[in-house]
Amino acid sequence: MNKTEQRKKIKDLFLDFTDNGYSEIICQKAFDYLRKRNISTVMSYCPFQKEVNVSILNEMLLKNNVIVGFPVISDKDYTMDCYYSRFYSLNQYGIIQPEKDKFIDKSKIDAVIVPLLAFDEQCFRLGRGKGYYDRYLSDYDGLKIALAYQMQMINKVVVDNYDVQMDVIISEERVYERDN
Ligand code: ADP
Ligand code: MG
Repeated sequence: MNKTEQRKKIKDLFLDFTDNGYSEIICQKAFDYLRKRNISTVMSYCPFQKEVNVSILNEMLLKNNVIVGFPVISDKDYTMDCYYSRFYSLNQYGIIQPEKDKFIDKSKIDAVIVPLLAFDEQCFRLGRGKGYYDRYLSDYDGLKIALAYQMQMINKVVVDNYDVQMDVIISEERVYERDN
């Protein structure tokens, strides 16, 4: 299987999948994980389609005075930067993104919460195929954390040289930590 086939496989599984309250469980586990590590600035994202409802975690973080920024993408070169704002609009993919009120430098971000379609036990991730996060994280030193349903785990994600491994992936069943 190549990456395209792996993406298709997971998208098909999502067709008749329901959350069953898993998002609450996953977000609570992620919140506890971050709190233990005294994380004070986070780059998160807004949930897209049927992926884990990360907005539950975003709210928990905001209530606990964590600064939560969101990516603003540039579709010319598939790059992105982190911004914080009270105001949001939809980007070209229909994803909510903030106005560029306050830029948050990468070096100030304690943890990036990374979206994914599929993952494996080695904490490799499969994204939606544009490589935005691989580019952004290529020179990022902080914690890389992803939230996923157990059903998004596959045996082995197809990876290339640019693919950035996560430090931790949290599902409703387990916490996968990178072991090297
Ligand atoms: P995703 O991570 O979104 O699933 P891919 O891993 O398939 O997508 O990456 C999409 C494309 O972006 C690939 O052609 C990949 O080689 C390219 N890419 C990813 N990261 C970088 C980078 N740091 N520099 C240049 N190209 C990159
Ligand atoms: Mg990738």
